[in-house]
This record gives sequence, structure tokens and C-alpha cells, in this order.
Amino acid sequence: MANFEIPTEQWAQVVEKSGGPAIYKKIPVQQPGPDEVLINVKFSGVCHTDLHAMMGDWPLDTKLPLVGGHEGAGLVVAKGSLVKDIELGDPVGIKWLNGSCLACSFCQQADEPLCPHALLSGYTVDGSFQQYAIAKAAHVARIPASCSLEEVAPVLCAGITVYKGLKESNVRPGQWVAIVGAGGGLGSMAIQYAKAMGLHAIAIDGGSAEKAESCKKLGAAAYVDFTTSSDLVTDVKAATPDGLGPHAVLLLAVQEKPFQQATEYVRSRGSVVCIGLPAKAYLKAPVFDTVVRMITIKGSYVGNRQDTAEALDFFSRGLIKVPFKTVGLSELQNVYEMMREGKIVGRYVVDTSR
Ligand code: NAD
Ligand code: ZN
Ligand code: ZN
Repeated sequence: MANFEIPTEQWAQVVEKSGGPAIYKKIPVQQPGPDEVLINVKFSGVCHTDLHAMMGDWPLDTKLPLVGGHEGAGLVVAKGSLVKDIELGDPVGIKWLNGSCLACSFCQQADEPLCPHALLSGYTVDGSFQQYAIAKAAHVARIPASCSLEEVAPVLCAGITVYKGLKESNVRPGQWVAIVGAGGGLGSMAIQYAKAMGLHAIAIDGGSAEKAESCKKLGAAAYVDFTTSSDLVTDVKAATPDGLGPHAVLLLAVQEKPFQQATEYVRSRGSVVCIGLPAKAYLKAPVFDTVVRMITIKGSYVGNRQDTAEALDFFSRGLIKVPFKTVGLSELQNVYEMMREGKIVGRYVVDTSR
């Protein structure tokens, strides 16, 4: 078993007040409790949720001061006395669901993200934008040893979430899925998982030629630019061979409008899966159409431990390759600025060593 020297202080990005900014500073390293592990985070993906958390966008308070981040990949460097199935040196991932009670009726049925006692990384407990982070041992993602920690980091939220969303949509191989927000972090992952699952993807995003190019390169069968299309509903339906629209829609965008539009182009008997979380947004759909076209509208929220293992298995087989750029943890605030402007293609990953 490896032995690790653990410093008493470390670099972290700390949000001190709602609205930000994130401040790069030194903070103490915590010690794991009996059922926890201490992880030396090497890389962390930056999810739009981290920006929502800093801005206080949602009707759920964050802890303050807050260390954000929930796509952290690293090595276990210390563990509590109750942790028997993880060794020091094991590669693990910090995901959104940091811990849950494992005893409530949701936890018992593998719906642990719905646990009323859930701990959320980078939201209700400190997350992965620090060099040493704590997570409940039962919930850390077991990362296969063959995976690059830098490349796998975005799977830990974006990958798991879109994989779960595709399962929740009930689409089958050969069917069509529209991915709204396809050029972003979750969207790029969704195109790759859809392709690996034998689905045809219609990518919807806009604003730059780079996004269109990236979506096609990742395997989208069609691309619709929401900023230039004069009739988005017609364009999305026309992308399917019989013109009747996609069997499912994955809503990953950070705007309300696409949540109102999706039922118009989804195929009859199709499903609209809401995953993106734009601030203060509402769903709206015509009752008549929803009824007579038998449309399902549902939410999908991260994934459980089994979804995590499956999403990582797709990745470790080389099926999931998403564009990413790596910058130092010290540059996190710049990443947020680009994200706010919708400029990011794929994912940004921060390297905690700089
Ligand atoms: P991102 O900023 O990387 O990507 C969002 C994309 O949406 C951008 O490419 C943007 O151009 C695009 N977009 C904006 N308006 C659009 C429109 N009208 N039509 C089509 N595309 C549009 O963000 P991300 O990290 O991929 O996260 C997306 C959302 O998902 C966030 O709200 C985040 O909080 C949420 N999220 C939810 C879960 C969950 O479990 N439900 C998990 C992770 C993230
Ligand atoms: Zn996330
Ligand atoms: Zn529970």
C-alpha cells in the first residue's frame, strides 16, 4: 500500500459570497471521517452547474464559503477506519452526489440522487476545485486504472448525466435523438454516448462555426443552428428521414426558450428529457398536443452508482472522446467568463497543480 505525505495547506478556489468571484487562495487540508476518503485531486472538469452555484441561480442555498467542483479525478491519499474496499493510491472520482444516507426508500432502490439527505459536491459540501477533497467512500467513482485522469474528469458529471438521460429517454438503437446545447460540455458528451449506443443524433446549438464543426466531428448526423434557423421546429423534424421528428429530446441548454420548443418537434409518443437548469425557468407545453400525440416530459438528474460505473465503462473502452482544454486551477474565473458568454466548445478541465 502506498503512503502519501499530506500537506496541512493547499491551493483552492473559494467563493466567499453568492455572486462570486472565485478567489484562488490557500486553505487548510481537511481530514476524512470514518466513512470518508481524502482525495488528491489532479484534474477537475468545470461544469455549468459550478457557475450556477457561484451565482446563486437556484432555489437551493449553497454552503459559504464554498469550494466548487464536482468532476474531480485523483488518487486516494487517506481513508477513514470504516473504509475497507478502497486502497491508498486508487484512482477515484468526485461526482455531484458526494454522499447519501443509503437507507431511505430512494437509496434502497438505487435512486440515491433523490435522497433527502444527499450531500452535493461543490454545493452543500466542498468540491474538487482544491488539491485535497473529501468524499464519502461508498459514493466515489471507481476509475479504471487504464484511464487518463485528465480525460476522464468530465465524465464524472457531464458523462454520467447524459448517459442517464439517454437511458431515461427510452430510445432504442437506430432511433433519433435531438441534443439541445450539443456544443457544450454535456452536449458533446451526449453526442458521443448517443453514437456509442447506436442512436442518430441531431445536434442543436449556435453562435460559432467551431461548435457546428465539433458536433459533426463527434458524430452528429445533423446540425441545426438555433441562432440562424428561421424555423427551428421544421428544421429539426426535417433532419429525420421520415420528417416526423426525433424519438427523444435531451434538453441541455442554459436558456428557457428551448424548453418551450421541444414538444413541438419531438415525435409523437416521444419523450422530452429536461436536464439543463436555466435560472428561474419554467416548462410550458400545449395540453392538447401533449395528449393527442402522447408526449412524455420528464426530468433527469445525474446518475446513481451503477450509471456511474456504466458511463466509465463506455469511456474506458475508448468510445467517448470529447474535446477539452486544460488550464491551471488558478484560471478558473476566466473559464467562468467564457462559459457565461456561451463560448466554450466541449469542456474546460483545471489542473490543480498550477
Ligand atoms: P455549457 O455552458 O457547456 O453548454 C450549454 C450549451 O447550451 C452551450 O453550448 C450554449 O451555446 C447552448 N445553448 C444556449 N442556448 C441554447 C438554445 N436556445 N438552443 C440550443 N443550445 C443553446 O453547459 P453544461 O456544463 O453542458 O451544462 C448544461 C446545463 O446542464 C447547466 O444548466 C447545468 O447546470 C445542467 N446540468 C444538469 C445536470 C442534471 O443532473 N440534470 C447535471 C449537470 C449539469
Ligand atoms: Zn455538473
Ligand atoms: Zn437516502
